[in-house]
Amino acid sequence: PTLRHPEHWCRSFSHFIAQCLIKDFETRPSVTHLLEHPFIKQAHGKDTSLGQQLSVLIREQQDVGNRIKTRHERINTRKTLIIESCPDDDLVDLEVLDEETIIAHLQRRYQELQIYTYVGDILIALNPFQNLNIYSPQFSKLYHGMKRSTNPPHIFATADAAYQSMVTLSKDQCIIISGESGAGKTESAHLIVQHLTFLGKANNRTLREKILQVNPLVEAFGNACTAINDNSSRFGKYLEMKFTPTGAVMGAKISEYLLEKSRVIKQATGEKNFHIFYYIYAGLYHQGNLKKYRLPNKTAPRFVFILMQDIVSSKLYEEQFDAIQDCFRIIGFTEEEVNSVYRILSGILNTGNIEFTSTSSQHQSDKSEVPDSEALDNAATLLSIGSEELQEALTSHCVVTRGETIIRTNTVDKATDVRDAMSKALYGRLFSWIVNRINALLQPDTNICGMNVGILDIFGFENFKKNSFEQLCINIANEQIQFYFNQHIFALEQIEYQSEGVDASLVEYEDNRPILDMFLQKPMGLLSLLDEESRFPQATDQTLVDKFQDNLRNKYFWTPKRVELCFGIQHYAGKVLYNVSGFLEKNRDTLPADIVVVLRTSENKLLQQLFSSPLTKTGTRIIQLSSHKLFNYSKCVYACETTNMRRQTVASYFRYSLMDLLSKMVVGTPHFVRCIKPNDDRQALLFNKERVMVQLRYTGILETVNIRRQGYSHRILIEEFVNRYYYLAFRAHQMPQGSRENAIIILQRAKLDNWVLGKTKVFLKYYHVEQLNLMLREV
Ligand code: ATP
Ligand code: MG
Repeated sequence: PTLRHPEHWCRSFSHFIAQCLIKDFETRPSVTHLLEHPFIKQAHGKDTSLGQQLSVLIREQQDVGNRIKTRHERINTRKTLIIESCPDDDLVDLEVLDEETIIAHLQRRYQELQIYTYVGDILIALNPFQNLNIYSPQFSKLYHGMKRSTNPPHIFATADAAYQSMVTLSKDQCIIISGESGAGKTESAHLIVQHLTFLGKANNRTLREKILQVNPLVEAFGNACTAINDNSSRFGKYLEMKFTPTGAVMGAKISEYLLEKSRVIKQATGEKNFHIFYYIYAGLYHQGNLKKYRLPNKTAPRFVFILMQDIVSSKLYEEQFDAIQDCFRIIGFTEEEVNSVYRILSGILNTGNIEFTSTSSQHQSDKSEVPDSEALDNAATLLSIGSEELQEALTSHCVVTRGETIIRTNTVDKATDVRDAMSKALYGRLFSWIVNRINALLQPDTNICGMNVGILDIFGFENFKKNSFEQLCINIANEQIQFYFNQHIFALEQIEYQSEGVDASLVEYEDNRPILDMFLQKPMGLLSLLDEESRFPQATDQTLVDKFQDNLRNKYFWTPKRVELCFGIQHYAGKVLYNVSGFLEKNRDTLPADIVVVLRTSENKLLQQLFSSPLTKTGTRIIQLSSHKLFNYSKCVYACETTNMRRQTVASYFRYSLMDLLSKMVVGTPHFVRCIKPNDDRQALLFNKERVMVQLRYTGILETVNIRRQGYSHRILIEEFVNRYYYLAFRAHQMPQGSRENAIIILQRAKLDNWVLGKTKVFLKYYHVEQLNLMLREV
């Protein structure tokens, strides 16, 4: 039907060529041949501008042969590129705009393997749950520096837009990827890094290779198999890629947020520990090195428990182990460091194997001991500490009262808690160390003041059968990202219309601020209440629920009548029921001083480093010694700023982390990628309308389409606008005044339509900035 309407041909011009190619390219693969093509000739007859466009297009594309080949390859692999799909590449261009229509378009596109769709400058990415042949270097070339409308929507186009804006405007950029668990955020982040390293190639090949290893390495330590996703991120990651002013990549830096350390000691049914444990076990087994790292064979019962799996020396894990070894080597870790990492990991596994039994003596009734010292000895050897000292620190603790030090014994439960706290601390600190080490190795070796593109990939919204403190933190973080999206897309834009006297119809959207306030407000927000209750040693799960119930009286919070020790939250993305058991302990997250003291005596340099204070500013590691000799190992910068050495809880560190993350994000110009999960069965081509509808609703896609269509997503101060774009209308040396008149001259010369001039700002549509930047590059 499109062929019968030449007016559509222009909008879908690139697809039109593709259609020609499908039919003809195989037999006569030449560009000039295209001009002879009957479709094109027909176009000449009906619409001469189309023929002209084709000539311009060919002249513009010096490597057109390559491009066409690439397209051809893609078409071959997809087999289904259809000419009619083009007009709905951007939902903003749709004539009819309602939920049903949007869903229908997305569904058809998904079935045609067009997983990407624009909403103005925002990219929707539907998880294909299968490998598509659309991420090769040829595709990076295809999208390099191209106008958004030239090619079908793609994650490379978003990465490219961020890069081009950074280079053209000399401004930091930030790509925010959101979506629920398993929606494809981490995969998208990889693809963005891939394209950015391609763009910023410059002359430093080694650096590029290093950067590409960063994600696989940190994900081996920070990702795990959950009930929802086999490679689920259990930490938040903000990766900043650093570029020179000319756009050559010169380094990278990762910030990690809130690793789910509790996974080291316990996983929910059907879930697994962090990937790295399986990799090293399989790898060391294969190398015949299990003995060297004192790893028990597969049948050790507790070992099976810590990994929650029958440990098969699977081929895949072995390959992953080799890949991780390569990552370490390429990034620049020394052999000694890697060996220390393996020793600590094996030490953690052995620590998990230490069992306690109860003994009673005349004086002490609740005493625990280690009946079988094999695991204890192994752990101590691997961690290079004394076995007796370790046992002592696990089964007893020092109490200082009135200047006197008294040693008290630990019950079996207490000793088990201490053992688990030690494993968590070891793993958490090792993870932070790896991240800091990567940062040191990827630090730019020049003093050039460059720019960066930040990529945010956090753990997605989760709703399991049983949700605990970890899910609460993950979901609050997602709540915060949604709030940021709302602020950026709706709130700020609309406030500026009003203050600048610009007439634009307002778009209503679901503001999640009240939910966020309920969590973060001081002193009556949920996290503050949790902190307060964590300070009482006598507090129980029941007192915590009661406290929430008494103080959180709003429609977003409820306690179910029939389920005990639970509370429900109406999140922006749906209702979640949380079970409070373990909340208080997880929030206190304390590590007895006795353990820290023993670990500090380690002969392993890396381990010493992990447990030595004080912290670095960015490393933010802190060990606080309070009067009753409790060390807290939460990382928190707040604590260094204050002389009050109060114990830091996970909740307060979490609050700080969110602030830290936001402060990084707000510096750059944001680009949004909204990942959508088309079904819960991880099946290719299965489009569950209901599931997609829910996600579109809570992410406010319909409202986003509206505001992108009606609104002005870019607002630039008049002076800045003139300063930035005067080349388009004035001579380079002229440097005109930043006046309204000059702004109008530039806008008119650039032949933009639909712009508005406010009191102090130029209001532009989302597509104007791309047009202006392209023109700037051509000048
Ligand atoms: P979480 O919040 O749990 O970390 P996530 O949003 O990061 O989830 P991913 O791990 O990126 O989800 O994706 C889940 C799985 O979906 C991947 O392991 C992969 O199998 C598949 N997937 C996602 N995106 C793509 C893609 N573009 N191409 C092919 N497969 C994909
Ligand atoms: Mg992920």
